Amino acid sequence: MLSGLPQTADLYRLAMAGESHAGRVKQSVFKRLVSSSQGAERWVDVSLQFGKEQGVHYLRGSLAGEFVVVCQRCMEPMRLFVDARLSFGFVRNKEEESRLPEQFEPLWVEETETDLLAVIEDELLLAMPMVALHPPAECPVRIESTVVNDEQAESDRATPFSVLAALTRDKH
Ligand SMILES: [Zn+2]
Repeated sequence: MLSGLPQTADLYRLAMAGESHAGRVKQSVFKRLVSSSQGAERWVDVSLQFGKEQGVHYLRGSLAGEFVVVCQRCMEPMRLFVDARLSFGFVRNKEEESRLPEQFEPLWVEETETDLLAVIEDELLLAMPMVALHPPAECPVRIESTVVNDEQAESDRATPFSVLAALTRDKH
């Protein structure tokens, strides 16, 4: 799935071997992220570097991909570019966690084999906004209100609460 990288792996072994992997993963493998695969298959660019530094086994890397999610204002699909950086230090107990240098986020490695895809999916979920919204100018809800009342739309844009106001309006 990813240049010979298995879905599950012994992360300490990869770190000791100093392995690095780069490739593309189909978005459809992330079941928590992608509810259905409509249209063309989309991908996530994944780059992972394993290694050891200051006595810490680590996983660093980056994830980037364009997802199609539902805008929570107009309920239409929208494109969302997600970009995440990883800097994990592996920990097996509280003591290792407390000693972890601050450039690392702790990644609990409790089993010999870790589900790497789940680690990647967790990071993608964290990198996504809680509520996805089109930029105001691109959202059909905004376009409609601009057509109905240009002046009102202009004043909406001027207030930081215009998004909130639009959301509230939609509930009624
Ligand atoms: Zn929208």
